[in-house]
Amino acid sequence: MAEAAPRRLFPGNTLLLASHNAGKLRELRAMLAPRGITVISAAERGLPEPAETGTTFHANAALKALAAAGASGLPAVADDSGCQVAALGGAPGVYTADWATQPDGSRDYAQAMARVAREAGDNPDRRCAFVSVLCLVWPDGHTQFHEGHVEGAWVYPPRGANGFGFDPIFIPAHSTLTFGEMTAEQKAADNHRSRAFAAFAAACLDE
Ligand code: IMP
Repeated sequence: MAEAAPRRLFPGNTLLLASHNAGKLRELRAMLAPRGITVISAAERGLPEPAETGTTFHANAALKALAAAGASGLPAVADDSGCQVAALGGAPGVYTADWATQPDGSRDYAQAMARVAREAGDNPDRRCAFVSVLCLVWPDGHTQFHEGHVEGAWVYPPRGANGFGFDPIFIPAHSTLTFGEMTAEQKAADNHRSRAFAAFAAACLDE
């Protein structure tokens, strides 16, 4: 049987988030602040966003984190995430952000959420899951992944104006509210990213 890898504690107190997504930045900052870790974003550092050419959450998380760590010399984390609609065979999945992307590069989530409802049509299967894969890259090149999933259902029309992305159409199984109707604290209590973060914290942060 393979031996378990030795525990690798997170080095230092600064982490670069390889993202320009303000919503992800807000959530990761809130999770790491109580641990004494400062999160700076690729946008704040003026780092470009690499093209997400992978076909899996893991591949895209790795390419974003490796690019940011290489350009900054800092430990870096990337989140690649998305929603999987059962009636659409798991789409948009890894292409969730693409469904919102407009020809000029801007993102239109109202249009992307409408597309989910349009393509699912009158299929009664409303199951939907959110997935987050975090890739951490240490300055010496060590790489590790942590994953979080949350099951739930999609609704349409959108409900609530909080959060970001597809939050207004997703109701996690543990609630009756959409993520968009929740306060930041309610969403932070349990979601795909917080579950992935909890796995990272258990593996890499001292209690
Ligand atoms: P990427 O990880 O940058 O490829 O994009 C993830 C996509 O999933 C974006 O369109 C996000 O808006 C969406 N997404 C990821 N996490 C959440 C979330 O917590 N709430 C709503 N949408 C999310």
